[in-house]
Amino acid sequence: MASPSREARIQELGRAILATARDEEKKKEAHHKWEMALLEWCMENEELRNRAFRFIDVFPSLKTPQAVFQHIQEYFPKAEHRLPPVLRAGLALTQPSFLTRPLLNRVTRELYLRMANLFIGARNEEEALEKFRLYARQDVRLSIDLLGEKTTHEEEADAYEARYRGLILALGREKKGRDFQNISVKLSALEPQFSPLAREKVIARTGERLKRLLRLAKENDVFVHVDMEDYETRDLTLDVVDSVVLDEEFRSGVSIGVVLQAYLRDASECCDRMIALSRLSAIPLTIRLVRGAYWDSEIMKSRELHWPIPVWTSKEETDATFEQLLERILSSGPQVRLAVATHNVRSLAAAWALAEEKEIPADRFEFQCLYGMGEPFIPALKPSGYPVRFYMPIGDPVIGMAYLVRRLLENVSSQSFVRRGFYKPEQAEQLLSAPAELLDANEPQMPAAPDFDPLAPLAFHDRYVRQNFQKALDKVRRSLGETLPLVIGGKERSTPEKIKTVSPVDGHTPAAVFSCAGSAEVQTAVASAVQLAAKWADLPVSQRAECLRRAADLMTLRRYELAALTVWEAGKTWREADAEIVEAVDFLRFYAHCAERMMTEAVAEDLDQETNRLAACPRGVTAVISPWNFPAAILTGMSSAALVAGNPVILKPAEQSTRVAWEVYKIYREAGIPEYAVHFLPGRGESAGDALVRHPDVAVIAFTGSRETGLSILSVGNEKKIGQKLVKRFVVEMGGKNPAIVDASADFDLAVPAVLQSAFGYAGQKCSALSRLYVVDEAYDEFLKRLAGAAREFCLGSPLLSASSLGPVIDREAQDKIQGFIELGKKEGKILFEGVVPDGVQGPYIPPIIFSELPQTSRLLSEEIFGPVLCIIRASNFTEALKMAGDSEYALTAAVYSRTPSHLEMARKTQFAGNLYLNRGQTGAVVGRQPFGGFKLSGGGTKAGGADYLREFYFLRTVSENVSRHGFAPLHDESSNETK
Ligand code: NAD
Repeated sequence: MASPSREARIQELGRAILATARDEEKKKEAHHKWEMALLEWCMENEELRNRAFRFIDVFPSLKTPQAVFQHIQEYFPKAEHRLPPVLRAGLALTQPSFLTRPLLNRVTRELYLRMANLFIGARNEEEALEKFRLYARQDVRLSIDLLGEKTTHEEEADAYEARYRGLILALGREKKGRDFQNISVKLSALEPQFSPLAREKVIARTGERLKRLLRLAKENDVFVHVDMEDYETRDLTLDVVDSVVLDEEFRSGVSIGVVLQAYLRDASECCDRMIALSRLSAIPLTIRLVRGAYWDSEIMKSRELHWPIPVWTSKEETDATFEQLLERILSSGPQVRLAVATHNVRSLAAAWALAEEKEIPADRFEFQCLYGMGEPFIPALKPSGYPVRFYMPIGDPVIGMAYLVRRLLENVSSQSFVRRGFYKPEQAEQLLSAPAELLDANEPQMPAAPDFDPLAPLAFHDRYVRQNFQKALDKVRRSLGETLPLVIGGKERSTPEKIKTVSPVDGHTPAAVFSCAGSAEVQTAVASAVQLAAKWADLPVSQRAECLRRAADLMTLRRYELAALTVWEAGKTWREADAEIVEAVDFLRFYAHCAERMMTEAVAEDLDQETNRLAACPRGVTAVISPWNFPAAILTGMSSAALVAGNPVILKPAEQSTRVAWEVYKIYREAGIPEYAVHFLPGRGESAGDALVRHPDVAVIAFTGSRETGLSILSVGNEKKIGQKLVKRFVVEMGGKNPAIVDASADFDLAVPAVLQSAFGYAGQKCSALSRLYVVDEAYDEFLKRLAGAAREFCLGSPLLSASSLGPVIDREAQDKIQGFIELGKKEGKILFEGVVPDGVQGPYIPPIIFSELPQTSRLLSEEIFGPVLCIIRASNFTEALKMAGDSEYALTAAVYSRTPSHLEMARKTQFAGNLYLNRGQTGAVVGRQPFGGFKLSGGGTKAGGADYLREFYFLRTVSENVSRHGFAPLHDESSNETK
């Protein structure tokens, strides 16, 4: 809490700032009256505002008058969406009824530019320098920020750096000194792989770029301020800055700025880190204190991933933190300078009052405002005697769209001070009231919890998480190569035949040695499972569900080791391996929850004299035959559904990843699932798998794997065997040949990484992986150029290294098969991109490859390759793309990247995939959120991770009872019902 005298001064200054700023805003409104009126009109109505933002977002991609016309029609279909006549007249727009399509295009573009120009200071460096001089004459300083597309590869980062170098040289020529000559740099624009998992690489590469800029800035007397972006890259940004300023070379003559975001819950710790850095490096550090611009996306991301929300969820908490940080920074000594960047009058007044009270000299303190929003504050803050600076984004307004939309969103946010202060003036007291004391009790609002308790993925931006993962990899390495038994009825067995597997990570480290079940072991296992099947079935469902929950807890406890094992045995990268364990845990908790809800006795319809009840009955012995590519998740998913439904389970994992399966088995047992309910039967598919499928007493076959095996299981399993007394149930999930479509309206910044991740994530070895990409003619050349560039940053490497984007394929056999397809592709089509195997890796590594111009009859376009191979097909238009995408024997996943509402609607209506993803990648379905499974020859339409999936594992019995006796019915007297 501020002292009474300081508080009085804050109020006094606040009133003065507010009065001047309001007057100035009125003048500005007069200047941009119609643009402001347009903003106000569309912000009044939420639906219209959403439509307007979405239109603004798609507009840059609309290249023809026809496209602009179509999108205006689709985004603003109703009369009430059209501009009112008074606004049209004010903005000097022609009546739409008289507009031809080219004219409408021109008018829309002009209007768009007028709005963009409100917030984007200049189109290029020359215009920016003019603004620089103009403002310098008024003693207003600028920090110039180059707007740009998301950097996806090194050349783009080179180009970005070159533009900054040009800007530094140009500013230097102005000879106005470092106080005026100031630029803001986003490190993600200088580094395509700006990820905490690639920390060492980022520090080396980005650090080098930043050093080059700092050297040039020093020579030209220009100040460099490093911007801050999302929370996940906050520490990484600071790590890069640390590495640069602690370098001997920069110990003198250099200064740098960083950004502190007050909306972060750990902003105080971050502030301490910055102050410590400044002391250690002995160079002056400027901290730009902001509230933070990614509030919505931070919350959305945390909700999606079930992470704790890193930002304060109420404005009051951010306001209070802001003032605490002001005090902390201004008390930290002369080494640290403060730039107060806010439009909140209370915060501005508090900063002013504090600086005044502490007699901070003018070279240690300044105010910063956003160009396009902060103009009214310039005259209001001038009397403080402290410098005032505009943060001015420059660049092509079309390319700067994302930035613009964010500024607009800020401008209309209901909590935004600018809106409250100017558009909806309220009482000064309210606007200037002191922020409430921070209350620890004010916990962040967590997302509305789903019905079960999902596991959050590891936060790899936390260095302790990365360290733990590394330790787990080292620990697991020492346990590899263990000999695994078969386990039937709790008894371990060994067979003379053994299979030895090696880790794909290096192609030679032993992964596992295991006994191979044959027909005899299958007979014994099924007999053992049948013998005590009723015992497991008779347990209350809640007890079985509890076992699953305990298994989920055990898996969570061992998540690092299990994920590390998945890296070693299946060749998954860190994130993929973690996602695998998350999915396994989620399956356990989700099916436990569903079973308790679904398997209780239900009333069909009762009469006075008759009860009609539905009872869930387990089907019987279930053989779970799983693939190698999700050794924990799919095995756990299929088996946990069967177990919780009351069936004894025989686990038959894939040969290539038996060790992970062994850990799952052990966890089941430790969790209390009795020895008679779960059996571990590794072995070859053709022997152990086949014998299970044929066995007359196996009631359910839950299989996930290739189409060939799946179809053969259906045909073999369906033959009635001697002694068979049941109709077998098959849950058969098979492969895919999954398409995606990119149209001309797509957001390439979103589509390019999503396409690469979907095609090359886990080296293309997911059933959901993208393999056929249809790009419409209009977008073809530009999209392919960006895709090929970005593919270079999708790094093939050992999955032991956290920075690798993809690792090896599973084994030599798979490598040969995929290589066969690649040789064929090279003969039949054109290579758009081919990666390289990095030096030093050994094992079945295949560099990612992208083909185009393949003949329509190519096997690469119809057969599942299951490797890092992407085929691109040119489509003349969206309808043709949809038709070609749907023309497949498979129907598992598909994706469409488009911002044209009618295209998205067409895709929704077309049945071409079990899982259709619009404007997002097509892999990584989340349990409960995206029930997963395909149809056609991809599967029988069952949905893993959906509640309906459980129904495959039990049937319903109807029990009808006459409860009347000689005309006497018990009516509602429960006690007279003998059976209850
Ligand atoms: P696969 O068909 O070779 O093997 C799967 C399992 O079946 C293994 O446990 C194997 O030992 C067993 N098996 C093999 N022959 C058998 C037989 N004759 N009788 C009984 N069992 C037999 O598949 P894979 O190579 O392990 O996995 C990759 C395939 O799985 C790909 O086609 C992929 O698309 C598919 N897949 C589908 C999904 C999905 O949800 N639809 C998920 C993951 C993987």
